[in-house]
Amino acid sequence: WQEDWREHIWLPYAQMKHIAPPLPVVATNGTRIRLADGRELVDGIASWWTACHGYNHPHIRAAVTRQIEVMPHVMFGGLVHEPAVRLATRLAALLPGDLDRVFFSDSGSVSVEVAMKMAVQYWLNRGIRGRTKMLAFRGAYHGDTFATMAVCDPDEGMHKHFAGILHENIIADLPHDDENAATLDALVARHANEIAAIIVEPLVQGAGGMLFHEPEVLRRLRALADKYDLLLIFDEVFTGFGRTGTMFACEAAQVVPDIICFSKALTGGTMALAATVAREKVFEAFWSDDPARALMHGPTFMANALACAAANASLDLFESEPRLEQVARIEAALQAGLEACRGTPGVRDVRVRGAIGVVELEKIDDLAALKRRFVARGVFIRPFGKIVYLTPALTIDNIDLKRLTDAVVHVVRQIPD
Ligand code: PMP
Repeated sequence: WQEDWREHIWLPYAQMKHIAPPLPVVATNGTRIRLADGRELVDGIASWWTACHGYNHPHIRAAVTRQIEVMPHVMFGGLVHEPAVRLATRLAALLPGDLDRVFFSDSGSVSVEVAMKMAVQYWLNRGIRGRTKMLAFRGAYHGDTFATMAVCDPDEGMHKHFAGILHENIIADLPHDDENAATLDALVARHANEIAAIIVEPLVQGAGGMLFHEPEVLRRLRALADKYDLLLIFDEVFTGFGRTGTMFACEAAQVVPDIICFSKALTGGTMALAATVAREKVFEAFWSDDPARALMHGPTFMANALACAAANASLDLFESEPRLEQVARIEAALQAGLEACRGTPGVRDVRVRGAIGVVELEKIDDLAALKRRFVARGVFIRPFGKIVYLTPALTIDNIDLKRLTDAVVHVVRQIPD
């Protein structure tokens, strides 16, 4: 199978000849992945920053094992089950304000798509037509489906061939300072009656370039949404569950969005599950005897019982283990470890927030060679664009963390192996 994949597997991004072939992986162990040839790599990415408790956590394994024996999955149309109710109740209790109404789906893209659908229908249900656009931001990444591609940075390249045929939205710069905020305000003033919602990844724009912004930006967006009566959507698919240092990024800004989206680390990175959580006022606009006002969305595997059991077990671990303290430790170690990259020729920026470490380069000529050099140093790190980044499990120990930062320094400074 280590060669046979070429016959039938359509790998993401794999049509680019310069991309290195995938590494055959057979097992995971804590914060490491084991390759078919027996090598063990320290995982610098935690499977697209999902595996927040590391892989194979015994508490999650036990919860999923119990659940699979009782009821692995039932449809969520017309049926409801305890793992989902418990999870929704716990999310509502953890989230600020009246973010209380949880809609389950099965991927980050779909959670965002559902949020946008809720926002557009929220206005329709209130008899207001024409509010069909999102105000989204340069640097954003919200997913790969048709609707979510249309709120990604249009210049980022990934979805460029669809330019002109995606749903029309308004893409602006984040209001980093008062001047940007005034420009954005003027833009919104011109288009307010076309905009259903503002959508943003709070604190960190992830897959669009690992760009950070200050909590003040989010407060400006809340004020803008209030001024023009727009909904505010936070996409916390990346930032949710401790990654930036607080349980949710919105807490750092003390801003309550109207809708918030989660996936990835929701199940501790073990299963496909997503949640779109709305405030009461959004939910109420859908609550009626008129079927035309209902939210017509029902993914087959929504609220999968195994995934809900895993998510509940993951939340247990946030309660019983010092995850957020571990993020503070990781942040300090990333700062100290990556500092040596600063000032290196070809390095444009070094930035760290929570358990996210980023080295932005001027350019990357040979991505495949870079990846091979990381593997040769015993780590799994996958740069993209001009970005070399670390988003390890929040349980990673200092030894493995140092192996990761040393590898980045070594490779970025082009020290021969
Ligand atoms: N939003 C954000 C902020 C993300 O980082 C991602 C995934 N990288 C998505 C949405 C899409 O999630 P998924 O890949 O699960 O569809």
